[in-house]
Amino acid sequence: MASPTPSDLIHVFFHEGMLNHNTGTGVFDTLTDPGFLEILDKHPENPDRVKNMVSILKRGPISPHITWHRGRSAQTLELHSFHTPEYVNELVKADEDGGKEFCSGTVLNPGSWDAALIAAGTTLSAMKLILDGHEKIAYSLVRPPGHHAQATHADGYCFINNAGLAVQLALDSGCERVAVIDIDVHYGNGTAEGFYRTDKVLTISLHMNHGSWGPSHPQSGSIDELGEGEGYGFNLNVLLPNGTGDRGYNYAVDELVIPAVQKFKPTMLVFVIGQDSSAFDPNGRLCLTMDGYRESGQKLRKLSEEHTNGRLLIVQEGGYHITYSAYCLHATLEGVLNLPIPLLSDPIAYYPEDEGFSIKVIDSIKQFWKKLPLFS
Ligand SMILES: [Zn+2]
Repeated sequence: MASPTPSDLIHVFFHEGMLNHNTGTGVFDTLTDPGFLEILDKHPENPDRVKNMVSILKRGPISPHITWHRGRSAQTLELHSFHTPEYVNELVKADEDGGKEFCSGTVLNPGSWDAALIAAGTTLSAMKLILDGHEKIAYSLVRPPGHHAQATHADGYCFINNAGLAVQLALDSGCERVAVIDIDVHYGNGTAEGFYRTDKVLTISLHMNHGSWGPSHPQSGSIDELGEGEGYGFNLNVLLPNGTGDRGYNYAVDELVIPAVQKFKPTMLVFVIGQDSSAFDPNGRLCLTMDGYRESGQKLRKLSEEHTNGRLLIVQEGGYHITYSAYCLHATLEGVLNLPIPLLSDPIAYYPEDEGFSIKVIDSIKQFWKKLPLFS
């Protein structure tokens, strides 16, 4: 194989300290033992999922296209660009006290806080590599994930909003408009909330209809959560029906995401990825396969070429099937590299798709968006 040219490289930021966030066992993410099961699950957000992602990028066919960078720990002061000092102090105190369950399934154990600081610092370093003009495409391979974490509280396995910190760094470094495309299966409510009142950040989240899930997650993710004040119309929620699949999903990218980004004309693009949109994820019902992820990666790369001079930060969020998440990550990054043929075939995709209903939903969202400032 010929050596990849620089534009064919993805700069991956990782640090093994993030594997020390131990989330425990129980009935799935409840962390409870009912007493009548012989085998308990690891919490879905466990180190194994990220170990396999690192492994497939190091040993899979994409490996010649990957350059590795060691992540770093964030200083607590750096977190104040997105989170309130009171909340950061609450996290520090929880760590000093030996741990705390912040909300359902979201548990800070010994080692977790250091991991969260590394996830934040690593994402900031990845963004900085791009901002400094050295490279175009960086991927922050981090855990714990971040897109549910809000300014004042933890939510959905997330403590610190890694992508949110990177977006704020881009703004503070002179980027005029940042677009965030979140393809994790859940609503990126923390990132949306963080930039809900500004027109400088366009947040678009594609997610299933899971609604609010308690005090830590009051947002519904519905299409009428559009932002407020100057930010009105700059938070776009693409609520997709269960079972959407590859064709329906990328129809949404073509008909909704791409036109919105083209109107917004971002100067920086942040691609927030979660493999929990896959057909085999225990936490999701949108049924993407590797082909769907590959196509979404290609489309995001094209948008970055058109609008941000190729600058693209990719940030890892959820994705809980230990094997298939790694495969879907591989496919996504193949798409981002715009490789002419797939490097890795799908070992398990077999579900038939029926995109008819999702296409009707997407067409109705498109009609609804026509009245928004971005499209007028
Ligand atoms: Zn998720």
